This record gives sequence, C-alpha cells and structure tokens, in this order.
Amino acid sequence: MILLSAAVALVLGSLVYTLFVRAKDLPEPEPVSPTAHLEERKAQIYDNLRDLQFELRVGKLSEADYQASKLILQKELAQVTAQIEGSGSTSVAPRPEPRPATSNVCPHCGAHFAQPLKFCGECGKPMAEARS
Ligand SMILES: [Zn+2]
Repeated sequence: MILLSAAVALVLGSLVYTLFVRAKDLPEPEPVSPTAHLEERKAQIYDNLRDLQFELRVGKLSEADYQASKLILQKELAQVTAQIEGSGSTSVAPRPEPRPATSNVCPHCGAHFAQPLKFCGECGKPMAEARS
C-alpha cells in the first residue's frame, strides 16, 4: 500500500511538473523555418479548441457559443495550414557562393590587386585564409 501511494505520488508529481514547466519555463523557440510562426499559431489554435471543449463541458459556454467559436478557430486553422503547405515548396533560399581559395584583396593589410594572388604583394602574407 505504501508502495502504491508512492507510485501515485510520483506520477502526479511528474505530471504537475510537466504542466508547470510547459506553461512558463520553456523559452520561446527560435524561428528556424519560414513556417515556424505558423506552426506555433496552429498549436495555439489547437490549444484554444481544447479550451473551448473544456469550457463547454464545465458549462461556461453554451452549445451555440461553442459551435460559433469552434467554427472561427477551424476556419483560421484551415488558413494557417494552407499557408504552411503553400510556403513549403517555394521557400528554397539560394545557397551563398563558396569563397574562392585565392583573393584579390589582402585579408591582412587590405591591399587590392587586379588579379587574384596567392601571396600579398604588399605584406607578403598568404592572400587566402589558411585551409588545411
Ligand atoms: Zn597584404
């Protein structure tokens, strides 16, 4: 019996901890993709839909209010989903050109030359950064 209540306490404790951490301690995610803010918005809409269902169940919302709010959220969800799918195929950024191994501007003294050189005519140092 002691073991059982310990297990229950552990499960409840981790559950509370998970909810608590998720609510306030997680940092804002970095925008890693052009659709990151849309994915975030989508998650918010799902959250709102869950809240609506909860409020309906506890009697804070009437069935009519629930249906009306749900319709608005579902419409927004469809828009967001369409935007995510629409931007997915067209958002291939051009890759930057790799820098040439030789340069016509000295990285050490800044001298300019008409042609790319291996060594600077001014300071004699290698023109390109050393690569191994
Ligand atoms: Zn130089």
